[in-house]
Amino acid sequence: MGGDASERTAVGWAARDAGGHLSPYSYTLRTRSHPVNEVVGVGLIVGCCRQCHPCKSSNEQYCSKKIWSYNDVYPDGKPTQGGFSTAMVVDQKFVVKIPAGMAPEQAAPLLCAGVTVYSPLKRLGLAAPGLRGGILGLGGVGHMGVKIAKAMGHHVTVISSSSRKRAEAVDHLGADAHVDVPVLRH
Ligand SMILES: [Zn+2]
Repeated sequence: MGGDASERTAVGWAARDAGGHLSPYSYTLRTRSHPVNEVVGVGLIVGCCRQCHPCKSSNEQYCSKKIWSYNDVYPDGKPTQGGFSTAMVVDQKFVVKIPAGMAPEQAAPLLCAGVTVYSPLKRLGLAAPGLRGGILGLGGVGHMGVKIAKAMGHHVTVISSSSRKRAEAVDHLGADAHVDVPVLRH
């Protein structure tokens, strides 16, 4: 595809010897599913085998050959560095378009904690409004859980070990109730 609008050269850092010394590494970025300069997002997976049962049933997180976005290695042995790099190599299967008008920093939490909550609700048929549910803990995934469950029209109770989370849960995130469950300490 040499030189067309869907490819450009990027420079990253890679360890290319056994000593682990990082040096600049130039390579060509290519894409077929997204035009160059489109704002896109990548979650926690950048690659998988595409052949196994988990891959064929959209459960790539269970693929034994999945490649995490960071702290993992590509098939050629180069490290994945996720959002810590200025460019990344990713199977376009795992690239999603960020809608126009959505800031990247708004989209980023949806690609990890957000989809962690949204996916099971959607896939298990729990997205229709009117359910009553509890969110255990408010530490990231729980935040997204409240927002997404409320957006689906559910009644949401946050169950937390800290009463300090009440205002955050109810006033800031829009939860319907907060239950304070003290943690037993020995
Ligand atoms: Zn697989």
